[in-house]
Amino acid sequence: MKLDILAFGAHPDDVELGCSGTIAKEVSLGKKVGIIDLTRGELGTRGSVPIRDKEAKNAAEVLGVSVRENLNMRDGFFVNDEQHQLEIIKRIRKYKPEIVLCNAIDDRHIDHGKGSKLVSDACFLSGLRKIETMFEGIEQECWRPKVVYHYIQWKNIEPDFVVDISNFIEKKTAAIMSYSSQFYSENTNEPITPIATKNFLESIHYRSQDLGRLVGVEYAEGFTVERYVAVNSLGDLK
Ligand SMILES: [Zn+2]
Repeated sequence: MKLDILAFGAHPDDVELGCSGTIAKEVSLGKKVGIIDLTRGELGTRGSVPIRDKEAKNAAEVLGVSVRENLNMRDGFFVNDEQHQLEIIKRIRKYKPEIVLCNAIDDRHIDHGKGSKLVSDACFLSGLRKIETMFEGIEQECWRPKVVYHYIQWKNIEPDFVVDISNFIEKKTAAIMSYSSQFYSENTNEPITPIATKNFLESIHYRSQDLGRLVGVEYAEGFTVERYVAVNSLGDLK
């Protein structure tokens, strides 16, 4: 299956927090979108692997993505080396996305910056034909996505561009709330973590609102780029 957009996250819920409004919008425009989580989030203070697996599946259904995979890398301890790059290269060559979305280049959780660089490096390497890969017994062709964009998650990173998600804020909220083990709820005895506060949930909503305000729409999500963004004409810019 060829995808238009492939979004990677170090942990299940990263993609939802960072760019699920954009994903819901692209799906509504007829784009084929997939999500790949690098780890199962097994070191997370709240919830458990089976619970998070189920939550990730529910969130994927809310967003209407075509595929969601988990690469079972080690939460907290995966590294950016040949073995891990090859695992990602195989998925890039399998799904042939034009656009790759991945974690923020720098963030509070060390896996986010690590995962960001790992995916970005793999996107480049995937385009080198002399790196040979096999997937499910089949030799793969090389493939390099046209662009890699980094979504914004915990830290307030200044975006290079924003996407209007005004009609998709409810879907984004619903996708995030699929992870009921991770986020704020009045009825739980789970320990409080930085992302399990009411303030955190409100900050996600407010950031979308604030980015929207700055470009004259209701809600927006921000991204950073690795190279200049090109448009065909000035009229394409809003
Ligand atoms: Zn994370």
